[in-house]
Amino acid sequence: MISAIDKSRKHRISLNRIFSITSGGMLLLFLILTWLIYSSLMGFKTLLDDIADESLPNIVFSSKLYGESSRLLEATQQLSKSNSDASKRLAEEKVEQYLAQLKRISEQYFKNEFLDVQLNIISLEIAEFTALIKKNLLINQQISEKEKAIYRLFTLSLAFESNVNDFGQTKENSFWAMQLSKTIVNVSRSINMNRLQEVRDLFRQFNTDLELLRQYAQQETNSSQKLKLTNNLAQLIVQEEGLLPLKILQLRTAGRAIGRENFVHNLIQDFGRLLEYSAKETEEKITKKMAATINKAESETSIIGVALIVGVIFLIVLIIFIQKNIMARLDMLNTMVKGKIKGQVMSANLKGNDEITDIANSFVLFSETIEQQNVKLEQMSLSDGLTNIANRRALDIRLLHDIELSIRKKSYVAVLLMDVDFFKLYNDNYGHAAGDECLKVIAHTIKHALKRNSDFIARYGGEEFVCVLPDTDLQGAEDIAQQILQSVRDSKVQHKMSAISDVVTLSIGIAVSGPDKVLMPEQLLNQSDKALYLAKSKGRNQYCTYSALDNN
Ligand code: GH3
Ligand code: MG
Ligand code: MG
Repeated sequence: MISAIDKSRKHRISLNRIFSITSGGMLLLFLILTWLIYSSLMGFKTLLDDIADESLPNIVFSSKLYGESSRLLEATQQLSKSNSDASKRLAEEKVEQYLAQLKRISEQYFKNEFLDVQLNIISLEIAEFTALIKKNLLINQQISEKEKAIYRLFTLSLAFESNVNDFGQTKENSFWAMQLSKTIVNVSRSINMNRLQEVRDLFRQFNTDLELLRQYAQQETNSSQKLKLTNNLAQLIVQEEGLLPLKILQLRTAGRAIGRENFVHNLIQDFGRLLEYSAKETEEKITKKMAATINKAESETSIIGVALIVGVIFLIVLIIFIQKNIMARLDMLNTMVKGKIKGQVMSANLKGNDEITDIANSFVLFSETIEQQNVKLEQMSLSDGLTNIANRRALDIRLLHDIELSIRKKSYVAVLLMDVDFFKLYNDNYGHAAGDECLKVIAHTIKHALKRNSDFIARYGGEEFVCVLPDTDLQGAEDIAQQILQSVRDSKVQHKMSAISDVVTLSIGIAVSGPDKVLMPEQLLNQSDKALYLAKSKGRNQYCTYSALDNN
C-alpha cells in the first residue's frame, strides 16, 4: 500500500508544477519579446539621434559653408577686377567678411583640422593676391602719370613746333615733329598692350625712334631744344621707371595676380569639394548604419513573429490542457459530489495523478467514512443500549413494515407484549445492576426462542419486550408465547421475592392482525397490552390473547 502511494507520488503530474512551469515559460517568452521589441526600438532611436545630431547639422552646415565659399569665390573675382582703390577696398572687405564667416562656421560645427589648415592657406593666398592687386593699381597709377607727362611733353613740343612755323621754318624741321608724332602713337599703343613680347618689341622700336629723333634734332633748327625734348621723352619712355619698364612690371604683376587668383580659386573650389566629400562621407556612414539597423530590425521582427506563433501555440495547448485535464475533470468531480449528496453510488473514476485526483479520492474516503458512521448511528438509534436488541423506534418501523407486507400478502401478523413479573421486587431484592443483568438474560432467552428469521424482538421499555411475528396466526402466536414462557422459566434466573415462582417469569399479551381484520400498529399494541393486563390479573407466568378478552 505504502509503496503504491510512493509510486504514484513518483509519477505524479502536479497541477502546481504544471502551473509553475507554464507560467514561468510564458513569463520568459514575454520577457524575450519585450527585450527584442525594446532593442529594435532602441536601434531606431540611436539611428534617429545620429541623424539629428550628426547627419542633419553636417548637411546643413556643409551647404552653408559651400554657399559662403561660393560667395568668397565671387568676391575674389571682384577683387581681381577692381580698377580703383575704392572698388578694391570694397571687394577686399567682402572677401575678409566671407572668409571670417567660413572660419567661424568651420570652427564651430566641424572641428576638422584639415578644413582649418585649408582655410588658413586660402587666407594667406588671398593676402598675397590682394597685395598683388594693390601693387598693380599703384603701377597703373604710375603708368597713367607717365602717360600724362608724355602727353604734356608732346603738347609742349607741338606748341614749340607751331611757334617755329610762325617764324617761317624750313620743311626739314617737320621730320623731327613727324617722328615725334609716330613715337607718341606708339606710346598710346603700348598703354593698351597686354603681351610682354609686344612691349619688348616696342621697347626696341622706341630706342630706334628716339635715336632717329636725336638725329633729326641735330639736323634741324632749334636742335638743342629738340634734343633736350627728345632726351626728356627718352627718360619718360624707356629709362628706369619710364613708361615701358613700368608697363613690363605691370604686365608681370598682372600675370602673377592672375596666377595667384587662379590658385586661390582652385583652393576655394578644393575647399568646397572637401565639404562635399565630408557631407557625402557622413551620408554614407548614416546610410550604412540605417541599412544595418533595418537588417537587425528585420531579423528581430522575424524572431518576434516566431516567438508570437510559439506563444499562441503554447497558449492553445495550455487552454486544451486546462479544458481537458482540469475543467472536464473538475466537472466530473462536481457531478460525483452532487451524486453522492443525492445518495447515488458514484465511483471516483477520475484519471490522472494530480491534486484533482487527490480531492476526488479524499472525497470518496470522506463520504465512505460518513456513510459508515451513518450506518453506525442508524444502528445505534435503532438498538437498545442495555440488551443490544432492537429498541422502541425500530419496533415502530418494523411493525408498520410487517403490517403493510401482511396486507399485500393477505397474511397474519402477531404481536406478543411481554412483561417481567414482580420485577420491582427483583430490583429491590437483588439491586438495580442485577436487574439489568436479568433483563439482558431475558432478552437473550426470548430472542433464541424465536424460530424464523423474519421474527423480530424489541425492548418496549423498562422490563417490557415485544415480539413481532409475521405470517403467524393466533395459534402460532400462542405456540411461540408458550415456548417463550418455558424458555424463560428454563433459564432459571432466581427470584426469591416472586409471589408465584422462585425463578423469574413473564406474562404475555397476544394480539393478531389478519386478512379478516387488519390492525394498525397502535391498535395491535393496544390490544396486546390489554391481553397482557388480563394475563397479569389471571395470576401471571402465562399468556392471554386479546380474542380471549373479547370473548369474556
Ligand atoms: P408486575 O408483576 O405487576 O409487573 O409488577 P412489577 O413489579 O414488575 O411492575 P412495576 O411496574 O411495579 O415495576 C416495574 C419495575 O421495573 C420498576 C422498575 O424499577 C423496574 N425497571 C424498569 N426498567 C428497568 C431497568 O432498565 N433496569 C432495572 N434494573 N429495573 C428496571
Ligand atoms: Mg411493567
Ligand atoms: Mg413487571
